Amino acid sequence: MEFYDATKVEVLYSKQDIQERIDALGKQITADYIDASKPLVLIGVLKGSFLFMADLCRSIDLPIEVDFLGLSSYGDAEESSGVVRVTQDLSRSIEGKHVLVVEDIIDTGLTMNYLLQNLDTRRPASVKVASLLSKPARAKIEIKIDYLGFEIPDRFVIGYGLDYASKFRNLPFIGVNVGEGLPLNPQRSN
Ligand code: 5GP
Repeated sequence: MEFYDATKVEVLYSKQDIQERIDALGKQITADYIDASKPLVLIGVLKGSFLFMADLCRSIDLPIEVDFLGLSSYGDAEESSGVVRVTQDLSRSIEGKHVLVVEDIIDTGLTMNYLLQNLDTRRPASVKVASLLSKPARAKIEIKIDYLGFEIPDRFVIGYGLDYASKFRNLPFIGVNVGEGLPLNPQRSN
């Protein structure tokens, strides 16, 4: 990929690191739900979870359902506003189903706390949380993460679904912007 400047991005987790971890989570989830008598629905939190969801659902060896819910807790800033807005609701009822929420990162925990309360009112059979990343140093509310990819230090990460000012979600790894300015390739104007 040439749209970004590799000298301005420190890679925390490579494509391979991520895939190996997700494969392990998929095996664990498969084992945990294999005897469940009710359907399992994975709910991806848009937009950040879309790549994690794509890889996680393919590593689960069960006849799952997939749905998405759009939430927005950040503008283009790096700090949580604490205000959560539903930008897109689920397409189907989750009543009586096992729900696995699929999130990119749990930072303060405010977004997930809001979401778990919201889902609870819809009478699911159970609710568990899968998050690719967690930043425990920033937690304002304790969230139980049932399936966690990686615990990371208090740094603003980009790539693999996570954005910086709405861009860089398509980086195939998880990284941190280092040096001055955005990690864009100056040779590429678009
Ligand atoms: P929380 O409500 O837990 O503070 O924030 C959750 C949401 O904030 C995440 O779903 C994600 O969209 C955004 N977020 C938190 N930390 C980061 C980060 O390091 N990088 C990016 N790109 N987004 C983050």
